[in-house]
Amino acid sequence: MRINVSQQLKTSIGTIRNYEVGEIVNVAGGKSMVQGEVGLIRTDRGILAKGTLYTEVEVTCSRCLSLFSCPLTLNIEEEYFPTTDVVSSASLPLPEEPGCFTIDEHHVIDLAEAIRQYALLVIPMKPLCRGDCAGLCPNCGHNLNQGPCDCLSQEIEPRWSESSKLTLASDAVVNKQKGME
Ligand SMILES: [Zn+2]
Ligand SMILES: [Zn+2]
Repeated sequence: MRINVSQQLKTSIGTIRNYEVGEIVNVAGGKSMVQGEVGLIRTDRGILAKGTLYTEVEVTCSRCLSLFSCPLTLNIEEEYFPTTDVVSSASLPLPEEPGCFTIDEHHVIDLAEAIRQYALLVIPMKPLCRGDCAGLCPNCGHNLNQGPCDCLSQEIEPRWSESSKLTLASDAVVNKQKGME
């Protein structure tokens, strides 16, 4: 997502150019289509990139562990600082701000890194494939979104019938002994 801004750097402060974005970017370990519009605004120090971009990333549901596409909205607003003077080609000192974005020596800005950083900020910590995801059965691991498993009926009934059999058997022994007296 590289945009040459050499012409815009020569224009007066406040000049705006709008870019339609529609590119594949490596986001959160996978390739994602990023779409939207970004305005590039000439500032007194460089170029401000501002706009809303939309993409989707593959994430794992924190309840049922299935992979699903999570839509993301990225409200980008980043100023890019020139490293080379567009007229004299002299190297320019970088601003003090740590981690600021720069315009390279060919007067190109690359939005991909900003997109990656903004995406990481909005990917949910505990993604859910849907609001009412039923999760996995803690016993057999069945995905309960695909319907109930057999655990409830298999689990509870045999246990009850086993203990009731034991009670009946011991009662029978007691009764037998009583009858023998
Ligand atoms: Zn889920
Ligand atoms: Zn189960």
